[in-house]
Parts: sequence; C-alpha cells; structure tokens
Amino acid sequence: VNIRSQVCLAPFVTLRLGGEAENFAEATTVADLAQIATVAHQGDASLTVLGWGSNVLPSDDGVPGLVVRNITRGLTIDDQGDVVADSGIALQDLFLQTVQLGWGGLEYAVGIPGSLGGALVSNAGAYRSSISEFISELEMVIDGERRWVPPAYMQFSYRDSILRQVPTPKAIVLRVRFRLPRTDPWSSYQEAREYQRQRISKQPPSPSAGSFFKNVTDRDVANSLSTLPPTLKEKGIIPAGFLIESVGLKGFRLGGVGWGQKHANFMLNLERGTARQVAELAEITKEKVLQAHGVRLESEVLYLGRW
Ligand SMILES: Cc1cc2nc3c(=O)[nH]c(=O)nc-3n(C[C@H](O)[C@H](O)[C@H](O)COP(=O)(O)OP(=O)(O)OC[C@H]3O[C@@H](n4cnc5c(N)ncnc54)[C@H](O)[C@@H]3O)c2cc1C
Repeated sequence: VNIRSQVCLAPFVTLRLGGEAENFAEATTVADLAQIATVAHQGDASLTVLGWGSNVLPSDDGVPGLVVRNITRGLTIDDQGDVVADSGIALQDLFLQTVQLGWGGLEYAVGIPGSLGGALVSNAGAYRSSISEFISELEMVIDGERRWVPPAYMQFSYRDSILRQVPTPKAIVLRVRFRLPRTDPWSSYQEAREYQRQRISKQPPSPSAGSFFKNVTDRDVANSLSTLPPTLKEKGIIPAGFLIESVGLKGFRLGGVGWGQKHANFMLNLERGTARQVAELAEITKEKVLQAHGVRLESEVLYLGRW
C-alpha cells in the first residue's frame, strides 16, 4: 500500500472542501484494508476510513493520522440470495448487481451516493427502509482483530450505530453478508426509478453532504407546531428542514456556503466554501432552533479531524 503525506481531501468528499490528510492511502482489496486497520489499531496512530465522502466534513486544518480511501469493490452472490459485499462497494452498484439476479430489498438505496461501509456507520436509509435490514453478519477489524460479528454488534438505530459513538471505537467494516428477498427485477427497477424521480425534484445540483441534521422525534414539539403536516404530527417526527425553515434560515448563505432553497436541510458548498463556514452556519442554526423550539439538532454529517 502506497502511503502519501499531506493529501488534500476536498476531491474525495462530496462537499468538495476541507484540509489535508496527514497521511493518505487507498485500499483496493479487503486484505489491504484489514492489514492497514490491524497495524493502526495496534499502534497509537488514528485511522479514518473514507468511503465516498458523502457524509463527512473534513476540517480546514486537516485530519491527523492515516486516512484510507476504501475502494474495495468485490461482490459475490449465490443462487440462494446469499450476498457478500466488500464495504467499499457503491450502494448503487450493490442494488443493480443484486437485482439483476432477482434479489431485492435495496431499491431505496439507489440514490444514496455512498459506499456500503459509510452507509452502515449512520444506518443510511430512505423511504422507510435502511441498510441495517437483511444483514446476516459483518466482517470487521475490532481492536486489531479480524472477525465476523452478528448485526447486533452494530447497535443500529435511526441514522446511528456503535461506530458513531464518541470516542470512536477502534472498529472498521471489511465485508457484509446479506440475505436478500426474491424480487421481480422489473418491479424493483420501477420502484427505484420512482424514488430517483422524487429525489431529482428535491435535491440541488451543488456539492453537498446530503441532509445535514437528523430529523427530530418529539411528540410535544411536533404537537406545538401548527403548520406541521398531520401525518408527521401523528408520528411525532419533525424534519430538520422544517425547523430550519421555521427560524427563517431556508436558503440562508454564509460566505461560500448556504442552506438549500428547495431542501432546507441540505448544506451546500455554493462558491469556494470552507469547512469552517459550514460549521459556523450549523452552529448558528442549532442555536436559533434551540431558542425557538427548545430542540437540539444533531448533525448527521460526521466532522473529521481537528476542530
Ligand atoms: C446528494 C446526497 C444524498 C444523500 N441521501 C441520503 C439518503 O437518502 N439517506 C441517507 O441515509 N444518507 C444520504 N446521504 C448521506 C450519505 O450518502 C450516506 O450516509 C452514505 O451512506 C455515506 O457513505 P460514504 O461512503 O460516502 O461514507 P463517508 O462519508 O466516506 O464516511 C462516513 C463515515 O463512515 C466512516 N466509514 C466509512 N467507511 C467505513 C468502513 N468501511 N468502516 C468503518 N467506518 C467507515 C467514515 O470514517 C465516516 O466517519 C446523501 C448524501 C448526498 C451527498
């Protein structure tokens, strides 16, 4: 594995901003990824695995230690629907390759522009489904030891898993085994196409990291919001975008970054924005929402490096 020092991370993250990785490598095979993690876990150096960089905010001051870009792409599918995927595979490819052979369940994932590994960390999902479904086991390196673990290890919940805990555990995902349900490929393609259509109408073309804050679940607050749609009130769910709009920040700009006009919870890099500006706008927004509604917004996007 070739390790380079002081590599700018902006080209490797969808927000297209941020500083340099102190050390940077690319892992093309699971064996390389496992070896890097084992060595890093046994020493003191910090290790950050980067997938497609679609859910991270790397600090302008850089990321210490080793950043490994995971470009493993392997996938095996047997005739019982037993699927073993490398963690670097794009969710889109995972969906397309499994559905071609008549295995479904991943239709919702087609428009999520990330890797399987990154999806697991935040239990990525859409349209009432999430990546934690259909997993039978995961191969990981945990504290320097390579082994298969049951999905319970991950402690999945809404946009959360054990890998988001602070301090971050010494654990990375190498491969995932799924047991997928049978599907008629044509109807799965149709379903995925309909989801894509809905996304395209809502999502802006500028660089972003998708939804910035997590949606909030709080029945009392939901009931206090007179303009919240009744279906959301019933469930006690308040979309983060609704809260951003309610404090007058929809479309608000700060330097080169700003909230989306269509989708208020998308933080956009509009014109040579910086990670500091993103963090500052996020703080201003959290403060305003806390004052107006007594709700603490929690970021879905993960901050990397020195802050
Ligand atoms: C336009 C757009 C739309 C989006 N839509 C959605 C959506 O509908 N639903 C949704 O849930 N998300 C959405 N996202 C967010 C994002 O795409 C997902 O969270 C995605 O799964 C992240 O994967 P990634 O490979 O890009 O992760 P990265 O951003 O590269 O990494 C995310 C985190 O995971 C860690 N990590 C990555 N790989 C591993 C590994 N193998 N082992 C251990 N840790 C690892 C990283 O260190 C980092 O902390 C969207 C993003 C964009 C830009």
